[in-house]
Amino acid sequence: RLESRLGQLQKTPKSFPQIKFKNYKERKRILITGGAGFVGSHLTDRLMEEGHEVIIADNFFTGRKRNVENWIGHPNFELIHHDIVNPLLIEVDEIYHLASPASPPHYMYNPVKTIKTNTVGTINMLGLARRVGARILIASTSEVYGDPEVHPQPESYWGHVNPIGPRACYDEGKRVAETLSYAYAKQENVDVRVARIFNTYGPRMHLNDGRVVSNFIIQALQGEPITIYGDGQQTRSFQYVSDLVEGLMALMASNYTLPVNLGNPTERTIGDFAKHIRDIIGSNSKIKYLKAQTDDPQRRRPDISRAKTELNWEPEVSLKEGLEKTIKYFRKELQHAQLSEAE
Ligand code: NAD
Ligand code: UDP
Repeated sequence: RLESRLGQLQKTPKSFPQIKFKNYKERKRILITGGAGFVGSHLTDRLMEEGHEVIIADNFFTGRKRNVENWIGHPNFELIHHDIVNPLLIEVDEIYHLASPASPPHYMYNPVKTIKTNTVGTINMLGLARRVGARILIASTSEVYGDPEVHPQPESYWGHVNPIGPRACYDEGKRVAETLSYAYAKQENVDVRVARIFNTYGPRMHLNDGRVVSNFIIQALQGEPITIYGDGQQTRSFQYVSDLVEGLMALMASNYTLPVNLGNPTERTIGDFAKHIRDIIGSNSKIKYLKAQTDDPQRRRPDISRAKTELNWEPEVSLKEGLEKTIKYFRKELQHAQLSEAE
């Protein structure tokens, strides 16, 4: 009986989330590098739901198959285990180039690899875009502004980056990725879009991500001290992931080719943010002040006038709503981790 039950289970077809019908002319083949990561997996969901074909190339450094498990086996979906430092020869209409570690502890773990991913990897993707005539969107970052002397940061600001500091592998890597994009656009007519993404949070961030939102939520949920690096007076502006995904898709669809900031302009000090998270969770965690991080940007807030005018885009999800969803996700992740440990 057990054998026949197992046989039945194996034959049960997987049910996929609903997708829109697109005829072959409307349906695009879209490559997402880093698509198994936090942002990439949410983008995958939206593009799959729109009825497109999505191909993910990921080396699973920080990404996980679990993030895209909903789609594994779907005829419109393909997951390729590939490191973009090596060339990739496929046929696609659009490329969202997201592959790169994004959290400071992850990108500092192997700085040389971070530089290779953002330089050699970006050359490979721009080369692919040139060969097949695909439009390519590069995921750049607010880190190109470094520790900014202009506040808030408009796209016209050239930035203030320490080229030999611990964050340089990422900051300078992304700056070169932007430079490469416009060099390929000018010299080879590649159709490029550049998104300067500001701090983004939401479900599917890794438990060990190490960025402030996940650290604070996990610490507060476990009643452990909330770790503030420095005096907590530094600021950030946090954007919920669904807002970013809408912005990326709007930018890809637009005719605007210069860099565009995508972020939420509501700014908070990190000290305030720690207390806010502790209050929402109702935790009694203490606040613990640790040594400030080298070259930590002291203020960060996007000027999003360009995105508003050119893309008709602005963030819609409030911090309260976004944090509630994220906290719910981390509660589940912690339970999952505890269960796996117990097994
Ligand atoms: P993430 O770490 O969750 O995702 C990055 C993905 O890229 C992972 O799946 C990882 O395995 C993959 N990857 C890394 N190196 C690779 C390589 N050499 N070849 C193939 N795949 C590789 O990070 P995220 O938050 O989803 O960030 C996605 C992109 O957005 C990154 O380019 C990041 O720089 C940019 N960005 C993110 C934020 C943010 O707050 N999340 C802010 C600014 C910019
Ligand atoms: N930070 C902190 N405690 C943590 C993690 C981060 O105080 O446990 C601070 C960090 O020093 C920075 C801000 O929070 O000032 C945002 O850090 P994050 O690593 O999330 O992203 P960044 O904007 O620096 O890339």
